Amino acid sequence: MLTPLALLLSLLTQSSPAFRAWNEPIEPFRVAGPLYYVGPKDVTSLLITTSEGLALIDGGFEESAPIVARNIERLGFRIQDVKILLSTHAHMDHAGGLAALKAASGARLYAGAADVELLARGGLGDFAFGDTMPFPPVKADAAVRDGEEIALGGIRFRALATPGHTKGCTSWAFTIDDGGVARRVVMIGGTTAPGYRLVNNPAYPGIVDDFQATFGKLRSLQADIVFEGHGFAFDLEARRLGKRPFVDPGALKESVDKAEAAFRKSLAEQSR
Ligand SMILES: [Zn+2]
Repeated sequence: MLTPLALLLSLLTQSSPAFRAWNEPIEPFRVAGPLYYVGPKDVTSLLITTSEGLALIDGGFEESAPIVARNIERLGFRIQDVKILLSTHAHMDHAGGLAALKAASGARLYAGAADVELLARGGLGDFAFGDTMPFPPVKADAAVRDGEEIALGGIRFRALATPGHTKGCTSWAFTIDDGGVARRVVMIGGTTAPGYRLVNNPAYPGIVDDFQATFGKLRSLQADIVFEGHGFAFDLEARRLGKRPFVDPGALKESVDKAEAAFRKSLAEQSR
């Protein structure tokens, strides 16, 4: 029987090589029009340029923040010009870099209302992970509600509450001008249930209903370009190497089908 600390250490030693691989730096690149990928290899961070400054979605791990900041500079932009930071959810691999990026930019941070306190606690007391996945705490400047829009320089970022992965998990939908063509972009907030207790979970009694509503909501959207928090989940490498296009109207269905099938399998296993 492992003590809680020994268990934690064993988990960390197992997971850190994977985390390090996700956090490998890559060259930043333009996706379409004003949309750029500035994250490390498998932790998405998106930069959107507007006439009133820059928007940044997600900050990766604490260790990703310098990579993201350097990638922004490499593209010829300035971190100080980031005006808004949009969070998908309060986990260490997407929100860990937000504190440093917020401090470096002075940007306003927007997050789903139900994740604001989890961000402020640096991930402590997560309904699934407890205190095992801490990250630098960060204070959101505004809690966004479902359907709320944050506007910057003519681009409207629509917050879509997609709870389940965290209670305040938020997907972001916006339209960009790609050389005269309007492209609808969706950044999926998170759809996995890694090791989650789905049946009779006192820490999150509505978890199954929330996941099902999230899948339904994502299916109701139309998207030309889709991102998820981890590149391996949406074939990022093939797309950035030009083997698959980013403009891919089937990508959203593909992502949701895969996530929903995995969810239903877990739910069936736990319902036996
Ligand atoms: Zn997560």
